[in-house]
Amino acid sequence: MRVLFATSEAFPLIKTGGLADVSGALPKAIRQLSTFKGDIKLVMPGYSAVLAKLKHVETIANIDVLGETCTILTGTIPGTVLDVIAIKNEALYERAGGPYSDENGKDWLDNALRFGVLSRVASLLCSANSPLPNWQPDLIQCNDWQTGLAPAYMKLLDNSTTKSIFSIHNLAFQGNFHANWLTRLELPAAHFQINGFEYFEQISFLKAGLFYADQLSTVSPTYAQEIQTESLGFGLQGLLQTRSNDLTGILNGIDTQEWNPELDTHLPKNYSNQRITGKSAVKKKLQQQLGFQIDAHAPLLGIVSRLTHQKGLDLLPSIMPQLINQGCQFVILGSGDKALEASFTDLAKRFSDQVSMNIGYHEHLSHNIIAGADIFIMPSRFEPCGLNQLYGLAYGTPPIVTATGGLADSVTDTNDATFKNNTATGFVLKSVTSASLLTTIQRALKIWKDKTDWRKIQKNGMSREVSWEFSAQFYLDLYKKTLSTH
Ligand code: ADP
Repeated sequence: MRVLFATSEAFPLIKTGGLADVSGALPKAIRQLSTFKGDIKLVMPGYSAVLAKLKHVETIANIDVLGETCTILTGTIPGTVLDVIAIKNEALYERAGGPYSDENGKDWLDNALRFGVLSRVASLLCSANSPLPNWQPDLIQCNDWQTGLAPAYMKLLDNSTTKSIFSIHNLAFQGNFHANWLTRLELPAAHFQINGFEYFEQISFLKAGLFYADQLSTVSPTYAQEIQTESLGFGLQGLLQTRSNDLTGILNGIDTQEWNPELDTHLPKNYSNQRITGKSAVKKKLQQQLGFQIDAHAPLLGIVSRLTHQKGLDLLPSIMPQLINQGCQFVILGSGDKALEASFTDLAKRFSDQVSMNIGYHEHLSHNIIAGADIFIMPSRFEPCGLNQLYGLAYGTPPIVTATGGLADSVTDTNDATFKNNTATGFVLKSVTSASLLTTIQRALKIWKDKTDWRKIQKNGMSREVSWEFSAQFYLDLYKKTLSTH
C-alpha cells in the first residue's frame, strides 16, 4: 500500500499547532505497524525552515503548477526514515513569518495560490502526469483546508484512480477565497456551485475536501458527532450529515519519543509513573526560572495554548486574583488575542512572583510547563482533539477541561465513582463559564492537597494508552476501508 500524506506543516520541520504533531507522528506510527505492508511519503511546501532541516535532499523535477514553476525535491525528516516530497518555490514559500501569515499575524494575501499549488502538486502525484512516475499512491490522506482542493483536482481534472481521505483537524479554518481565484486555481467553473466547492459564493478549500474525498475523518469520535450539528458545524453540518456514513472519528495519539517524561531532553530531570519524584525537581526549577517562590506546597497551574476564543482562556483572568490569594502560581505560554495577552501581562505585572506570562512560541518552555505544573488548564469552547491534555495525562499533570470534542474523549472527571474504580484522570467543567472554571479548579486543588489521592489520579492518567500505535491501527483500518470503496 502506497500512501501520500499531504499536509501544510509537520514536526520537527515546521509547526504552528496540533496538525504538525499529527503529521510528524502518524505516518511514522503507521509505518511501524507490523500489519502495514507499504510505504508513506509526506508532501508539503518547501518553507525555508523545511529546506534547512530536510536531510538527503534530491531534486526530482521542475514542473509548472498553476502557472508557477516549482521544483519537486525529496528528502527525509531528521532522525527518521520518513520521506518528504517538498515543493520548492522561493516566491511562494520562502518568506519571513509563519506558514499562513506574516510576522504581524496577518494572513498572506496569496494563500489561495500557495495552498492551491500544494493541493495541485498532491493531486498530480496521484495522476498519470506525476513527477514521481515510479511511485503511484494507492491512497492520499489530505489534512485540513490547505490540502482540500486535492480531492477536487483528482476527480475533476485528473480522473485519478487513487483513493482519497480528507481529515479534519479543525473545521473552524475553512480556506474561503473570492471567486476571482477560479481561473488562477484552474478550477472548472461548472463545479462552483452548492454540489461542488462553492460555499456562500466563495471558493472553499475545506468544502472541496469534504465534498470530493472518498472518505472523511476527524480527530476524535465526539468531534465527528459535534460537527454534524448547527452549533459546531460552521455551516457545513448539512454536507457532513449527508456524508455521515463516510465520516470516522479517530482520537490522536502522542509521539512518545517527543513527549515522554522518561526521555524528554527538555527537562532538568526525567521521571516516570513508577518513579515520579523527578517531577518535583522540574517544578522547582521552573519556579526558580520564573522568579516564583520555590515552594512544593504552592500549586502551580500551567497553560500552553493559542490564545483564541476557541481555547476559552478568556474565562481565566477574572478568577485569577482569588486563586492567587489562595497561593496559586500561574505560568502561561501562548500568543494570539491581543486583549487577552494584555490581561495576562497585566496580572503578571501585578503579581510578578505568582504569575508568569510568556508571549510567543517556545518548544522548550512548553515541555517544562507540561512537566513542571501540577495542573494543566484547557477550558476550550470546542476542541477537535487537543494534544496538550494528552501530554498532561502522560506527564502526571492532570488536566482541567471542558466536555467537548477530544477533551471529552480523553479526560475522565474525578468523582466518587471514577475515583473508586481508578478511571479518574482529570477534572471536567460543568459549563463553559468563569464560575464553573473556578469551582472546578477549587475541586482539583482540594484533592491535590491530599498527596495519596492526587497520586492515584496521576497514576490513572500516566498509565492511560495515549501512544500513536493505538490510533495508527484505526487509521490503517480506515485506509483499507477506503481502498475497498467504489
Ligand atoms: P491547536 O492545534 O488547536 O493549537 P492542540 O492542543 O491540538 O491545539 O495542539 C497544540 C500544539 O501546539 C501542542 O503541541 C502545543 O504544545 C503546541 N503549542 C501551542 N502553543 C504553543 C506555544 N506558545 N509554544 C509552544 N508550543 C505551543
